[in-house]
Amino acid sequence: MSWIDPDFPRTAEPTDLVGRVLGLNPGMFTGPGTNTYLVGRRHPILIDTGAGVPEYMPLFEDYLKRRGWSRPERIVLTHRHRDHLGGVAALSERFPGLPVAKMIWKDTDLPAGILDLRDGQTVVGNGVTLIPVHTPGHASDHLCFFMPEERALFTGDLILGGSTTVIPDEDGDLGQYLDSLRRVQGLGVRRIYPAHGPVIEDAPAKIEEYLDHRMLRERQILDALGNGTRTIPDMVKVIYADVEVALHAAAGMSVHSHLKKLKQEGRVSEERLPGAPSRWTGARP
Ligand SMILES: [Zn+2]
Repeated sequence: MSWIDPDFPRTAEPTDLVGRVLGLNPGMFTGPGTNTYLVGRRHPILIDTGAGVPEYMPLFEDYLKRRGWSRPERIVLTHRHRDHLGGVAALSERFPGLPVAKMIWKDTDLPAGILDLRDGQTVVGNGVTLIPVHTPGHASDHLCFFMPEERALFTGDLILGGSTTVIPDEDGDLGQYLDSLRRVQGLGVRRIYPAHGPVIEDAPAKIEEYLDHRMLRERQILDALGNGTRTIPDMVKVIYADVEVALHAAAGMSVHSHLKKLKQEGRVSEERLPGAPSRWTGARP
């Protein structure tokens, strides 16, 4: 049931072009921990840096040594969340002059010196090419990286191996998230390297499954509204009846993301109440 797999390999080489070092930050929302990927035949590009767990650096350096590499050439980040950029400080200190880039977008407290990286601004490595794809929804600054050499997509938190993505109340947007899934669906991706969990070999099936899952949730929410369920906590009790209570707060956030989308589309209305959960009603056709 849990996707926090204690036996998840700490390092791996899924292919000749892609190495993986685990961020060692397991948890309910990170699964076995954040995957950090080293991409290229030599002078690798590092995608994401983990949460800044102290044990990551020795593991990372051992891995470089084992591959015969002295340092990464540069770092690119999928988005600003702590479990992806938390390792930047330690890596920058250990490898002075290391360029670090992300899409700078509504950022407030980034580590100093981070460079801007835009949609389509290709990053060329050794035997690999990474094309940034702006994919907001989980976070407004989110980039995936398309690698044409393998028709592979580094999905960050857009698509995960073994869980669904959280759409945070703040900065998340389910409508944008679905648009992002449809956008990557159009890229002709074969393999997915997610930021959490194992490699996904059948990318089209996974993207379809993600879209279907959200459509199912939307139907469940509209059904619950139709049955007179009015508040998010009550909807969570019905829709997530078989999910452990510890996850109900996250589930509530997910339901809220759907309701916000439906409200934008004019399909539900919200009655805000002071000191109590909003009451939601479906628009009558
Ligand atoms: Zn995230």
